[in-house]
Amino acid sequence: MQAPVKNTVLSVALPVPLRQLFDYLPAENEHAPRAGQRVVVPFGRRKLVGVIVKISNRSDMPLERLASVAEYPDGEQGVLTTETLDLLEWCWRYYKHAPGEVVFNALPPLLRKPGGSIPPLPVQYSLTPAGERRLQEPPGRIKAQMRLLEHLVHGPATEPQLRAVSPSWKNSLAKTIEQQWVSCRTQEPASLDATPGPALLEEQRQAVEAISTSLGSFHCHLLDGITGSGKTEVYLKVLEQVLEKGGQALLLVPEIGLTPQLLERFKKRLGFEPVVTHSGLSEGQRLQAWTLAGSGLARLVIGTRSALFLPIPDLQMIILDEEHDASFKQQDGFRYSSRDVAVKRAASLGVPVVLGTATPSLETFSNAASKRYSWHRLRQRATGALEPRWRVLDLIQQNMTGGISSTAMEAIAGTLDKGEQALIFLNRRGYAPVILCHECGWHAICQSCDANMTWHRASRRLLCHHCDNGVRVPVMCPDCGADALQGAGEGTEQLEQLLARTFPEVPLLRFDRDTVRRKGEFDRLSQQVKDGEPCLLVGTQMLAKGHHFPRVTLVVIVNLDQALYSADFRALERMGQLMVQVAGRAGRDQLPGEVILQTHYPQHASLLSLLSSGYEAFAAEICADRQAACLPPFSYQALLRSDAIKKDDVLDFLKQAKRCFPNGKTSVYGPFPAMMERRSGRTRWYLLAQAAERPALHRQLDEWVLNIQKLPSARKVRWVVDVDPQDY
Ligand code: ADP
Ligand code: ZN
Ligand code: ZN
Repeated sequence: MQAPVKNTVLSVALPVPLRQLFDYLPAENEHAPRAGQRVVVPFGRRKLVGVIVKISNRSDMPLERLASVAEYPDGEQGVLTTETLDLLEWCWRYYKHAPGEVVFNALPPLLRKPGGSIPPLPVQYSLTPAGERRLQEPPGRIKAQMRLLEHLVHGPATEPQLRAVSPSWKNSLAKTIEQQWVSCRTQEPASLDATPGPALLEEQRQAVEAISTSLGSFHCHLLDGITGSGKTEVYLKVLEQVLEKGGQALLLVPEIGLTPQLLERFKKRLGFEPVVTHSGLSEGQRLQAWTLAGSGLARLVIGTRSALFLPIPDLQMIILDEEHDASFKQQDGFRYSSRDVAVKRAASLGVPVVLGTATPSLETFSNAASKRYSWHRLRQRATGALEPRWRVLDLIQQNMTGGISSTAMEAIAGTLDKGEQALIFLNRRGYAPVILCHECGWHAICQSCDANMTWHRASRRLLCHHCDNGVRVPVMCPDCGADALQGAGEGTEQLEQLLARTFPEVPLLRFDRDTVRRKGEFDRLSQQVKDGEPCLLVGTQMLAKGHHFPRVTLVVIVNLDQALYSADFRALERMGQLMVQVAGRAGRDQLPGEVILQTHYPQHASLLSLLSSGYEAFAAEICADRQAACLPPFSYQALLRSDAIKKDDVLDFLKQAKRCFPNGKTSVYGPFPAMMERRSGRTRWYLLAQAAERPALHRQLDEWVLNIQKLPSARKVRWVVDVDPQDY
């Protein structure tokens, strides 16, 4: 046993929402404590798991008042490397968030609990030459050990395989290893035959060359390629090079981008199974992925947002697919942008990062335009398919049935007649977004949110899509008693019924969160689409991402008008992205595609430029508008968000917080109500801090947070700083 070194202070991150680390003294232990190790410490009356973040010989508290660590649950092993610790520290400073929550967000769920422990790596056992010689001799009294050796004559085996050999296998195995008859090493991932990819097109080749040249140093690449232009093929080619050098790589995908097709494609091409991680896996599976990544055995890790924080000791490249996707920004708690943190991680490591998309976010777009990022354009579909043709229908001049114009309906009929498939896109599930009384005007609103209840006709329920409150549909108007309740507007459920009545003989597949609840359901439906028989697809943005449906030749966008005149300055950008992504589903293969856009505003300038000149021209225009208005990415923002049951508490707090905003170049505006002021019974408001320069903003934010923490009114509300906010 080692007595703790005198005056050693451990600064520990604990899973509590306080913006500080907690100091402890080391316990007597066999090994000196290291940063990145887990500890169990007393905290009030509880015992908590924590992670040592720093070791020093100083504390703001008198040393004799510090408590000691109770336990080192992982012995000598650490759970965070210095590299991840540095990244996490950068995160909590940049996002002004509680260090403990940031650190614990990076741990697999099982290691956040006292009971969880680091699992051993999967290992396999082989016979050594000494073991072979021993087998030639008479067994003597070690029959069980000999049986193990005999088993290994046929090749290496894992523990589960050896278990069957004898009841005392564990003991015998230990003895054979002691005698050096058997060797043990970590199990390499099974490798298959890699399939070579197609010869690259010129645009792809240039992108691959530029990215490969930057291996070994930090560089940001925007891979800006239309859907079907072969971006994934570019990822695969550069990944091959990283893997050949023996490096590890990380591919981040949006939440709904992680499809079995994508994994199958990577596995086939690269010849091994990538390690996958996302929040839908069991805690055990996530721990397994974490272990494999950290041991270096995982050569390629594919995951959603949180995979960014995995320990990957030999990380040589990070790729973010669909970099514009909103799911890369965490929308509650520790509100980080995995795109921005990925760029930061690549910069610290000195490795390239590739941001791939058909529709760059304006942040990335302006970084590429100002040459901070290299911009690689892929403007042709790799299969030679043509880009779909757009047709804009002015809704004023159309006969409408349940949201679909007669012209669109004819086009759908024509597509089906040709034996092809059509996709009807509407980003609104349910039967109708509103239910109202035609006698008195009553309409159903959620009791806890500022929102209408959506009518789900098949399940006879009214649901709030913001807090999941649900009630049965009333038979009569609750206000006037009239039997006059009707839906207004339409959702996917209504479109499905309308289309089923119009085309009774055609299979109809609805893709939204109500129909695609169960795991595997999406794949079952999309397999049916791929089988290629004529059918109709109706769905929400679930249909917008990366799926390759070769026989879809018509896409009808039912309505995106809301975004054209929204109060959110990002609405237009998102609308453009969604339109291009949905349109990208049409005509991906040999058959030419058409996209019909129904709108009340066919003359809207941004729509016109998107349709006539494409996304890049559209993005350049809205970028210029943002610059003129000093909006991000041409200024830097942070919100102080607050909510409470009582509105007065929120307003009192925000008014006081505004008063203690430190002097400097940053201005602070508000309080403003959130776009949805009341949600789940809580009233939500915010202050907006905006500056022309990032360093100035952050200096003031740091000081502000210290001031806010001292406000007595802060205890009556929930509050959080949202740096680089994406919604309001
Ligand atoms: P993206 O990721 O940009 O949507 P993909 O990489 O999935 O594009 O490519 C679209 C289709 O084109 C896929 O079927 C892919 O196999 C094929 N493809 C990609 N690159 C080439 C190429 N150089 N030659 C032939 N086919 C290609
Ligand atoms: Zn009524
Ligand atoms: Zn609600």
